[in-house]
Parts: sequence; C-alpha cells; structure tokens
Amino acid sequence: MGTLVTLQRMRESDWSKVLGWPGYKVYRDEVNEPLKTLTLWVRRKRGNRKLVCSGCGRKLTEAYDTYEREVRDLPCFEFRTTVVVELYRVRCPDCGVKTEKVPQLPSKAPFSKRFEEAVGLACESAAVRRVARQFRLASSTVRAIDLRYLQRWAAGRRKPALRQMGMDEIYLGKKQKFLTVVSNLQTGEPLWFGRERKKETLDEFFQTQLSAFQRGAIQAACVDMHEPYRMSLEQWAPQCRLIYDKFHVMKHANEAVSEVRKAEFFRKGGAARDLIKGKHWLWLTRWVHLSTNKKRQLNALFALNRRVMKAYLLKESLDRLWSYTYEGAMLRYLQNWIDQLRWQRLKPMEKLARMLLNHLEGILNYCRTKVPLGVVEAINGNIKALLRRGRGYRDLDYLLLKAQRLAATKTEFVAFQKAA
Ligand SMILES: [Zn+2]
Repeated sequence: MGTLVTLQRMRESDWSKVLGWPGYKVYRDEVNEPLKTLTLWVRRKRGNRKLVCSGCGRKLTEAYDTYEREVRDLPCFEFRTTVVVELYRVRCPDCGVKTEKVPQLPSKAPFSKRFEEAVGLACESAAVRRVARQFRLASSTVRAIDLRYLQRWAAGRRKPALRQMGMDEIYLGKKQKFLTVVSNLQTGEPLWFGRERKKETLDEFFQTQLSAFQRGAIQAACVDMHEPYRMSLEQWAPQCRLIYDKFHVMKHANEAVSEVRKAEFFRKGGAARDLIKGKHWLWLTRWVHLSTNKKRQLNALFALNRRVMKAYLLKESLDRLWSYTYEGAMLRYLQNWIDQLRWQRLKPMEKLARMLLNHLEGILNYCRTKVPLGVVEAINGNIKALLRRGRGYRDLDYLLLKAQRLAATKTEFVAFQKAA
C-alpha cells in the first residue's frame, strides 16, 4: 500500500513539472486514450498564499472561498489538454468579494495564457480560418483570442515619441469610403485610424491621442495635398512642417496619366478601347519594372497614341524630382518639367502642374527636413494586405493592433538580421 501511494505522489509531481505553472501542483490526472485527451487537476502548492484582487490588484492573504475553473492549455504530444484549476475568491476591502488574479489566466475566456499566445502567434503568419482549423476552434474564438493577445502586447510596450508623422487614406469601398491612417514615420508603424478624410477626422486624432506637449513635439508631417489635412495641422501643430512627399504627389501623377489615357481612347473609339481594356496597371508601373513583353505591349499602345505616351513619360520624369537634395536644383527641375507641358494640350497634366505650383513650399520642404521615404507607402501596403487576407475587419481597433504588430515584428526581424 505504501509503495502505491509513493508512486501516485511521484506521478503527480512529475505532471506538476511538465505543466510548469509556478506555485501550482497537479493533484489528479486523467488520460483518455481513445479521445486523446489529458485532464489535469491543479491547486496551489502549500505555502503559496499570496492572493491578488482581480479588481484592484491589492495583495491579500485571506481566502474567502474556492471554486474550480476549466481552461484549455497547450496540448501534450497528441493529447488535447484541459487544466482544472482550484481558484480562490477574496474579500477585498475596496471591491468586496472578487476572484483572485492569476497570471496564467489573463481573461475570463476558457484558455490559459500560453494557449492564447500560441494562437496569437499563429495568427501572425496565417489567416484566421487556417488557425481555427489548426486549433479546432471557431473563427470568432480565434479572432477574440488574437485581439486579447495583441491588446496585452500593446499594453506592455513603450510608445516612442511622435516627431515625424505620416498621413494617408485607404479606400475601403463604396459603403465605408475612406479610412485615414496616421503613422509614425520613424518607427514605421500606424498609430491611429479615423473614419473618412475630413478636417474633423484629423482633429479627433490630435484631440484624443496627443497631449498639448506631444502635439508641440511634432516636427514634420508627410501628407497628401489635401486641404482639410493642412487646415487641421495648422490648427493643432502650427510648428510642424508640411511635406508633400513623393508617394502622395506621384499618386496624383498616376491619376493624371489615367485621365489622359481614358480621354484619348474614348475619343478613338471601338478598336482602341479593346486594346486598352484591363491594361490599367501598365500605366501605373514604372518602365524599369516592366518585363520585355510588357514593354512591348506598352509600346504598341504608345504607337496608337502619342499623347498618352507623352503623359506617361512626363510622369516618369517627375519621379526624378526627389533625387535632388538642394532646394534650388529641385525647383529648377520642376520648372523645366512644367515648361515641357507647353503646347502638349494635356489638360490633366496641366492641372497637376498647377497643383504642384500651389503646394510648392511643401514640395520643397523635402529638401529642408529629412524624412524616411516610402514609409507611408509600406504601411498602406501592409494594411491593404491585412484587409485582403482577413476579410471582415469590422473592428478597426483590431485591424490597427494587427498592423502595429506587423510593423513591430518586421523591425525586430531586421534588427535581428543586422546583429547576426
Ligand atoms: Zn480589490
């Protein structure tokens, strides 16, 4: 009899080691072979009596009563593992009778912290549906776990100061219209999402997200040549230098080329319209990035219409404006560029030129304040990729956390590569 008890005790202590919850021991286990499940019953080790109120964090020593909670933990080999924990309730002088706070159980959901972490980590590289299949959970459960995982990550993180901000909008579709994205150019991460792209949108960011001191610390903002943004920045961060950066200006240049193309081919009618159909992307791609075959296709289109070709070449040469680092040289190049438009009768390009002249200071500011190029574009691309992969991101907070985590893990990855 004595040996049996010893054996039993040994086995439970081994399970305690395998489980590895500090301060807790396994006092009963059950293995169901056909169902491939493992259940462990767990309680505090003797002497572990430091209780924490889940309401306020106050430390207490007296337990009010006990109860049991069942949570899913990481699997043990092929066995799905459930842990049944004996937990305490405390009588807190401030909160009354409350459950105790246990680090392994961060939420009310029936999962352990490390199980939620495994699910969250899987969500970083795979779509929710795939993670749901892998863990045999409902998609909505996976999303809820992922959100908590990201919220915990964000809560325990230092937020770098905002010195250079980027702003962009993403078109979500006919119903939701635009999403304004504010980002930190130095860390390359999105900071905030706002509905629509009005002055009020950006006002809300400045009002709710930053203190007066933080607003005063912003040195530069890369924005689109969009009047409402400028007005909001002037009101809330008048010291901040506006920069109409390459990414935003080239967006307008691409639109101008599209307009020329549409007008020309519409004028030409039937046959030409067939040739142009579905080739929209060709016009937006830079010549150097095109394959030989694509270049040939584009040349065939140019042969049809010289004016479209001119517009395309003008767009290509505008791109070089940002290779100048001296204000004078940049201005001279821009003037030459505008001079080339004379006699071309390219209305959309002329409109673009007027826009550039009206925002000249902001364009030249690129030479006065150095900001990292391509950050706004990269953040924009990441968010679009998330939207494509995740489909229903009805919860914008979730989408923002997801994009922030993506940006942060990427920088960590780069830093790791450099160190190696
Ligand atoms: Zn309390």
